[in-house]
Amino acid sequence: MIIFFSLISFSTSAQPVLSNHTFSNGNNQVGLLSLPGWDAKFKLSGANAGLFRLKANKLYILKGSIKPEIKWFDLTIVAETKSGSFQQTFRLVKDEFIRNSVIAHRGAWKNTGVAENSIAALQQAIRLGCQGSEFDVHMSVDSVPVINHDPTIQGQTIYTSSSAKLMALKLASGENMPSLESFLKAGMTQNNTKLILEIKPTINKERALQLTKKVMDVVIKLKAQAWIDYISFDYAICMELMRLDPYVRVAYLNGDKSPEMLAADKLWGLDYNQSVYQKNPDWIAQAKQKGLTINAWTVNDPALLKSFLDQKIDFITTNEPELLLKMITK
Ligand code: MG
Repeated sequence: MIIFFSLISFSTSAQPVLSNHTFSNGNNQVGLLSLPGWDAKFKLSGANAGLFRLKANKLYILKGSIKPEIKWFDLTIVAETKSGSFQQTFRLVKDEFIRNSVIAHRGAWKNTGVAENSIAALQQAIRLGCQGSEFDVHMSVDSVPVINHDPTIQGQTIYTSSSAKLMALKLASGENMPSLESFLKAGMTQNNTKLILEIKPTINKERALQLTKKVMDVVIKLKAQAWIDYISFDYAICMELMRLDPYVRVAYLNGDKSPEMLAADKLWGLDYNQSVYQKNPDWIAQAKQKGLTINAWTVNDPALLKSFLDQKIDFITTNEPELLLKMITK
């Protein structure tokens, strides 16, 4: 009698990862599959497996197999190892993401009258046609990632408050304080505006790593990878994101590391205060040479916006997305 022993695990210690979660009509290579820390053989599973081909761990979409009206669909990958098999379902998203460099800082709230870091502010950024909408993530005492800029909200310290208590709070524009999960679900109803997820520094390294893991658990559960670029002031959080998934796009915010240092650690980009580029006038050229993405925050002044547009950086984070969009259309 042959006994098949198979271990299906959803722990991040053995989680198949994919280097890219988008597809476009012109390009039939989707991305590279791997199981960090393991030797694995991959196979495709589920209803959409027939739309793809796998060769040397590279995933290809079969030409003409996807109907033009499809915006995204799910594909299950099974990684087989000597110790069992691990599976993961990914959402593959048609790449209709806007590339106009405009990142709405905490959403588009300033000129729309909605609360910053609200789902309404995200929806306004989507309506405007921003490339990305940025938001900030903290974690409640019961380990639920929630959206807010400051570590406190309405007199409550987030890390000592329960998620139930926090999510019952009303923001200025009437909606409840969003959890990361509800926020991402709102963002994933479209495929034009990226979700720029800032993981906030917290009280100690242990909690920072726990927060990072909890954020990624939500992203994996919702299959939100295609939509998300990560940013953080905490370098340990950036490194932990890349340890959990070597293909995440993560940019560092704190301004104290040269493009050379970030490239050596394989970060995706630098996302520095606009003054950092004035103090280090060669960093934009250096970053371009190293293939890093470049973002400047928070740029609201028209002359400064123009200066960064002229320097052709990848993204500009602003409280004035309407103004920057107008400048780009000119
Ligand atoms: Mg932020």
